[in-house]
Amino acid sequence: MRPVVNLLPKVKHRVFYGHPWVFASEIGSVEGSFSPGDVVEVRDPRGRFVCLGYLNPESTITVRVLSREDREIDEGFFRERVRQAVEYRHSLFGVKYPFGQDSGGYRLVYSEGDFLPGLVVDVFAGYVSFQTLTLGIDRWKETLVDAIHEFVSPKGVYERNDAPVRRLEGLNLRAGYLGAPFDPLIEMDENGVTVMVDIQRGQKTGYFLDQSENRLVARKFLSGRSVLDAFSYSGGFGLSALVGGASGVLFMDVSEAALDLCRAAAGRNRFDVEMSFRAANVFDALREFERSGRKFGAVLLDPPAFARSRKMVESALAGYKEVNLRAMKVIEDGGILCTSSCSQHVTAQEFDNMLDEAASDARVVLRVIERRGQRADHPILAGVPETEYLKFRVCQVLKG
Ligand code: SAH
Repeated sequence: MRPVVNLLPKVKHRVFYGHPWVFASEIGSVEGSFSPGDVVEVRDPRGRFVCLGYLNPESTITVRVLSREDREIDEGFFRERVRQAVEYRHSLFGVKYPFGQDSGGYRLVYSEGDFLPGLVVDVFAGYVSFQTLTLGIDRWKETLVDAIHEFVSPKGVYERNDAPVRRLEGLNLRAGYLGAPFDPLIEMDENGVTVMVDIQRGQKTGYFLDQSENRLVARKFLSGRSVLDAFSYSGGFGLSALVGGASGVLFMDVSEAALDLCRAAAGRNRFDVEMSFRAANVFDALREFERSGRKFGAVLLDPPAFARSRKMVESALAGYKEVNLRAMKVIEDGGILCTSSCSQHVTAQEFDNMLDEAASDARVVLRVIERRGQRADHPILAGVPETEYLKFRVCQVLKG
């Protein structure tokens, strides 16, 4: 017998409307014995079946939904979910089977967006970066890795379970090869550019695939322009700008390790234009450019998530406004601003309002050319705002 989670009466439970989470505060009682991470049946206040999910009493998100059908949750279930996730990417990108042979980068599993809460799997030129971020999914690690071998045939698998969010689930942090080791510095193709992925020490899973299509879109507007790639990390945007015919790129990040990845990639693509690399705080550097009168034909902004909770939104918006305003001031008349926010807690509306205010304070007019979000291999579920986080805008900056 499965343990049963009984939902409290008189609550508008989001799980009734397609949302994949049940919070501790929504639960009346749990019947039956269980260990953290076990699969449970969720029932409504009248005792009717709602869904199956896994339970972690240590987490405020106490149940995460696995299935809305009453069925066995076993190895076959997880194998099928992985197969469906891989199938969806094949339909998106038209990659020939298996993914393990492809030189590009793809998110193969995006947690709730693929009905596998807590699981994140990226593939970089055939090498897999693997994360199980919750206790309930961590238990199925072996089954999931087997399924990846079956449907992807990767060249190698690296576990990036060093994400601090695992602590909220009572899990340890760990990282390492799952199987035979390989060179962790991977050369990958992205839209015809060679980029470097450090699967071992790189940020998050090693590379930010959610911006892939935006880098391609940005490229169209950067020909002949001098570009500042601010918050460059491994340089995905700046390298794409060079392919698009930018006259030069300054890669800027506080992290020297990030700039090393930019340098390594720059050396592998034969660009005969000016490239420079600067370890600096973008806020300070923009202030300095403003003082010295240095101008750019385009500034690309892709800062880290400034808001980690809804409570931090106000201060995050102040940070976004400051950096966008300063960027607008160092862009030539008619130049381009590509600006992003990956804070899930900042809505698209709030982001656009912030841009309006920044433009008005900088005394410029913005012509919004593109409004975009994350690539479709990070699928968004309707009614689940937590699955949608990336905002990306291409604007022309006009003095009016
Ligand atoms: N544009 C990148 C992703 C950027 S992630 C891409 O396309 O892949 C955010 C980056 O900002 C990180 O590399 C981090 O090291 C850097 N960063 C954070 N705060 C910074 C600051 N104040 N100044 C400069 N870089 C910063």
